[in-house]
Formats: sequence, structure tokens, C-alpha cells
Amino acid sequence: MAKTIWFVLLGIVSLIFSSSFDVQKTNPHHYNHSMISHPIQEIVQQKQAFIPQKLQELDTKKKIIEQEKAQWAQQKIVYLTFDDGPTKYTPQILDILKQNDIKATFFLVGNYIKGKESTVKRLKDDGDEIGLHSMTHNEKLLFLSPESYINEYKQEQSLLQSLGVQTNISRTPYGSKPLLTQAYRDQIFFAHMKVWDWTIDSNDWRYKDQTNLIINQVSSQIKRQHEVVLMHDHGYTVKSLPGIIKLFKDRGYTFQKYNPDLDFMVNFWKDPRL
Ligand SMILES: [Zn+2]
Repeated sequence: MAKTIWFVLLGIVSLIFSSSFDVQKTNPHHYNHSMISHPIQEIVQQKQAFIPQKLQELDTKKKIIEQEKAQWAQQKIVYLTFDDGPTKYTPQILDILKQNDIKATFFLVGNYIKGKESTVKRLKDDGDEIGLHSMTHNEKLLFLSPESYINEYKQEQSLLQSLGVQTNISRTPYGSKPLLTQAYRDQIFFAHMKVWDWTIDSNDWRYKDQTNLIINQVSSQIKRQHEVVLMHDHGYTVKSLPGIIKLFKDRGYTFQKYNPDLDFMVNFWKDPRL
């Protein structure tokens, strides 16, 4: 009799055990209790690893920039820049650049972008740098006050941002001198924008279809290790561009686009903030 009671008791105990086991398997609250500790531990571990990992990434980026700067200091580099686009000629300029495996910098006028969004997309897809050249390109409107100047540039910056382009490099219509005085430059600095003028004026706007004059004009000004060439998105630039590219290739220059990491200052005021 006692044996039977023992057996029954054992049976009950084992039933309780096995059912509690089932409960652990089937009841999500029970079951998850043991499982939950893993994701939490993982999250904690990930968080602990996050800061050193980010520091490591920053350190790697810093080293890459230092290497870039060291290389840059030794190389002969030319920056081809094209103002006043997008125009119907911009795709032709892009074709020539692509044929020569060259990346360049384009300072776009905000009001010309409407209807030419696909050109902006192509500039981006081709890997060229896009810069700001105001909304109106109208000196009278831009230079009403430092606020009106910076507002146009901010407006263009937002417009480009809506097209997926992030940029803070700008160029003043007709160059930064003489109109971009201290008060204007302060506004640009506060808006975290940079200003790029040029070292070589192709005078393409002046000589138009006189391709040889444009090429001679550029050729006579090549003397620095790093040159920034001013051109425009016009038909005459399409004609003279192959000759200009050849000039720099023959003189051992490599072609680059604006690189914000290099802090290459090119403004007529020599304002180090820009
Ligand atoms: Zn312009």
C-alpha cells in the first residue's frame, strides 16, 4: 500500500515537473524569461563596443585625410570649375569629362535648376561636386544686405538638399572681390559655408567661339601647383574644354573636384574662415 502511495506521489511530482517544463516552453512569458537575457546582453555589449568603434572609425578617417593632404601637397592638381549651370550644355560637358575620367566642380544657379533636375541627378551620379552660386545670380538683389545674400544661398542649399545633394561650398557671382566685404563673409562663416574663387580665369565668356584664345588664356596663367580654373556651362566651353584638358595633362596635372577635407583656401580676400 505504502509503495502504491509512493508511486502515486512520484507520478504527481513528475507530472508537475513535466508540465512546468511545458509551461516554460509554451508560455511566452516563462519561455522568454530565459531568452530575454541574450538580446539585452547583446545590446549592452554592442553599446559598450559602440564608442571605441566610433573612435576607431574617426581615427581611421583622420589618418586617411592626413594621407590625402600629404599626397595633395606633393601633386600638381587642377580643379576644373563650371559656373552658371545647369544649362542645355551641361550634359555635353559631362560627356567630355567622362571620356577623360575627370571629376569637376559645378557651381549651379538655383533658379536654373527647375526643369533640369535630371542634370543635377547626373552630376551627382557621375560623382562631380555641386556647389552653390546663388538663386538669382543678380548682384543687385544679392548685395542688398548680408542677410539677402546668405538667404539666397541657404535657399539654394535647401533646394539641392531636396534633390539629395549636400553641399556647403559656394562661389559668388563675378567673384568675391570687391563686394563680399567682412559683414557678408561673417554671415557665410556663421552659415558654415565656404567660398571658392579661382586662380585661372579662362575668359570663356569674353572670347566665346574663339577657342584658341580661350586655350591661350588658360595656358598663360598656369604657374601654381594647385590651380582652380573658372569656366561656364556654355557652348563655347564645350568647344574649348578638350584643349584645356590636354593643356593640363601635358603639364603633368591630375584633375580633382572640390574636397571639403583638404581645407584648400581659394578666396580673393584670403579669409582663412572660408
Ligand atoms: Zn556666375
